[in-house]
Amino acid sequence: MALVDSFGRTIRYLRVSVTDRCNLNCDYCRSAGQVLLPNNHRLLSLEEIARLVRIFTELGVERIRLTGGEPLLRKNILSLIKEIGSLPHLTELSLSTNALLLARYAHAMKQAGVSRVNISLDTLDPARFATLTRGGDLAGVLSGISAAVEAGLHPVKVNMVVMKGINDQEIPEMVSFARQHGLVLRFIETMPIGEAGREMEDRFVPAEEILTQIQARFASDLIPVHQPRGSGPARYYRIAGTEAEVGIISARSRHFCDTCNRMRLTSTGKLVLCLGREDRMDLRTAIKGGADDDQLKDQIRAAVDLKPERHQFDQEESHGKTHAMSALGG
Ligand code: SAM
Repeated sequence: MALVDSFGRTIRYLRVSVTDRCNLNCDYCRSAGQVLLPNNHRLLSLEEIARLVRIFTELGVERIRLTGGEPLLRKNILSLIKEIGSLPHLTELSLSTNALLLARYAHAMKQAGVSRVNISLDTLDPARFATLTRGGDLAGVLSGISAAVEAGLHPVKVNMVVMKGINDQEIPEMVSFARQHGLVLRFIETMPIGEAGREMEDRFVPAEEILTQIQARFASDLIPVHQPRGSGPARYYRIAGTEAEVGIISARSRHFCDTCNRMRLTSTGKLVLCLGREDRMDLRTAIKGGADDDQLKDQIRAAVDLKPERHQFDQEESHGKTHAMSALGG
């Protein structure tokens, strides 16, 4: 069984947002004026999420990532992780997090079936971190990263959104940090997603510029990794003599839509067909209305048929038109 879209791409990866709520408030993710309306009454229940994920795996999805908002804020998240972690066709269950709650959850998550985590960290400077996240505490993230490493959530990936004049001067320091802790560090281009993403257009740094900065400082230590990790869109380099790697995700300057293998499910049951487009299919109405597994599978197949060929980040008029990243989960 496989989900193949109308451009011949096989969908093997589903990212599932379990909440829009977050314990940080990053300025490029949520705009200052964005009001987060309580949507508890519209959320999929944990049972509904687990059911949909099972159905997706029966249709050929092999990898699941839980995200948010901050996924560890969702009540009883460990029971959802256990449920998903025990699905027979799954090859990987991972989680995107800001790490603030990882010191508390990392071991239990590992035992419940999470194989690895992606941690968002844009700066190693406490004051800059507080500004970017509108009040966050960097120390909590750093202990979360240590907890993830100790718990064996390997490889621990750290994602840095690179922003001109904000944190781009920290690229070499972040590489040294990754080297020191044996992390996989990924530099990410800003994306014009949601209102906040659109407002951040002047912060864009193209991947090639990021690479030039890294090479200027670490050239002799970088070994290109020809077999990219997982099936993700990053270009990777191993740092000689260490387990650390750096990767660059160039969603805009060198898009990778032709190998896109993923879809996203929001916490309110919308199946998002492309991160950079508005196209989506409502699964909530069907699941709340008593649809059986076959009906849900038909709806999912119909959605896959509608998956667009590529995002439209290069078309300015489409910027900011999508939902906020805090609802899409990255
Ligand atoms: N709370 C979790 C976390 O911090 O990883 C998961 C949700 S967060 C929305 C997922 C990722 O989206 C983060 O790595 C964040 O940096 C990234 N992100 C948010 N807005 C973005 C934007 N406009 N451009 C690029 N990445 C963005």
